[in-house]
Amino acid sequence: MTDRPNQTPDVVVIGGGPAGLAAAVELRRRGASNVVVLERDVAAGGIPRQCAHIPFGMREFGWVHSGMAYARKAVSLAERSGVDIRTRHGVVALYPGGELSVATPDGPLVIKARRVLIATGVRETPRSARLVSGGRPGGIFTTGILQSMVNLQNLRPCNRPLIVGTELVSFSALHTARGAGMKPVAMIETGHRITARQPAQFYPRVLGVPLYYETQLHAIHGRDWVDGVTVQNARGDLQDIACDGVLFTGCFVPESSLARLSHLALDPMSGGPVIDQFGRCSDPAYFAAGNLLRPVETAGWCFREGTAAAKWIAADLEAGDIVPYPGGEIPDIRVSCEAPLKLVVPQMLIPDRRDGMQQLQLRVSSAATGQLTVSADGVTIWQKRFSALPERRLSIPLSALRIPTRCKALTVTLRS
Ligand SMILES: Cc1cc2nc3c(=O)[nH]c(=O)nc-3n(C[C@H](O)[C@H](O)[C@H](O)COP(=O)(O)OP(=O)(O)OC[C@H]3O[C@@H](n4cnc5c(N)ncnc54)[C@H](O)[C@@H]3O)c2cc1C
Repeated sequence: MTDRPNQTPDVVVIGGGPAGLAAAVELRRRGASNVVVLERDVAAGGIPRQCAHIPFGMREFGWVHSGMAYARKAVSLAERSGVDIRTRHGVVALYPGGELSVATPDGPLVIKARRVLIATGVRETPRSARLVSGGRPGGIFTTGILQSMVNLQNLRPCNRPLIVGTELVSFSALHTARGAGMKPVAMIETGHRITARQPAQFYPRVLGVPLYYETQLHAIHGRDWVDGVTVQNARGDLQDIACDGVLFTGCFVPESSLARLSHLALDPMSGGPVIDQFGRCSDPAYFAAGNLLRPVETAGWCFREGTAAAKWIAADLEAGDIVPYPGGEIPDIRVSCEAPLKLVVPQMLIPDRRDGMQQLQLRVSSAATGQLTVSADGVTIWQKRFSALPERRLSIPLSALRIPTRCKALTVTLRS
């Protein structure tokens, strides 16, 4: 983009959430001298910063923390490690070779780092992307916005919201709403069971909040502010519900707009950048970690993923200036999956290397039971019977796969 960057750190980490902060700490521990975290928000900490609830940090910090305490601890650890955390620094563009365009309170900045770790996390699908009919009144939120308003700004944006969805985060939304004195009118779920693990369905029942299955949001009503919704059940019956807010929860998508607008290869299945087992993107100056890779994992998982990515980046830095893939090419084992599997990470494998990620991470788009099969160029090399539900962790240990030499493509299927 330019031949005169303003600054040239060893590593820039984009995003100061659990993955980015953990990576920055580990990079410092491994000797990287100049590690900068760029965080667009007013404070680092990522999503946990707005979570007043427990449990966070048991494995990372040896004790149960609230999200807020966890975020403070991660930030303080990074600061004590000598990481340069710059808040209100939003990265707006990525260019080949680790060059970034950054919006800062003091104006635009160009930074060229030897390596860049992208750790921008996930976000919930907002109303605009859910194709719900009706007006565009105020009073429509996601869990993230609700938590930020309630826990960071001490606001109560509505009193009687409808909660759409039953993922784990939907019950977090219910918890946050109740904690702020709201009385949710109902939770709705399009499927015939909750998406979160049982027995979470008893939580709304205990609070006297009806939970409607096989029900979808048909329309939102209200001129300036929400004053009701119409929901539709599986038989097509419509029902009006009075409420003064709608909380769209879950349906996570990676926060990959930066990668999407850049030269990096993007995986349409996961929604995140294509990576190899070392978290390395299609441009070897860039790595990725945390929930940007796939919706959605816990803070603890992302923290560990950030730490692991830092190890691989440090090794890469030690090897000299941007080291191309072995043989000078992007690795030629492509990993893909077929429905009902909805994503597999990583999407590329460098042959004969066992020192990166230890698993293929998978998710299903609908409940499925059957033979989980890995084929190498069409030949079955691994099989196991599996039952899987949407949004649940599903993985295959890479050590279990005997990948033939010169293999070009691994395909993962789940067939009943
Ligand atoms: C609403 C919500 C509630 C959740 N609740 C829980 C929970 O209770 N427990 C749990 O374990 N997990 C929860 N999660 C999952 C959450 O994604 C993980 O806990 C964890 O925060 C992921 O860490 P991360 O570092 O990948 O991303 P994040 O924590 O999302 O951090 C990413 C950071 O990148 C910054 N960023 C994004 N784009 C840019 C840019 N262009 N320039 C600079 N900075 C940028 C963001 O501001 C953010 O601070 C929740 C997720 C959401 C969305």
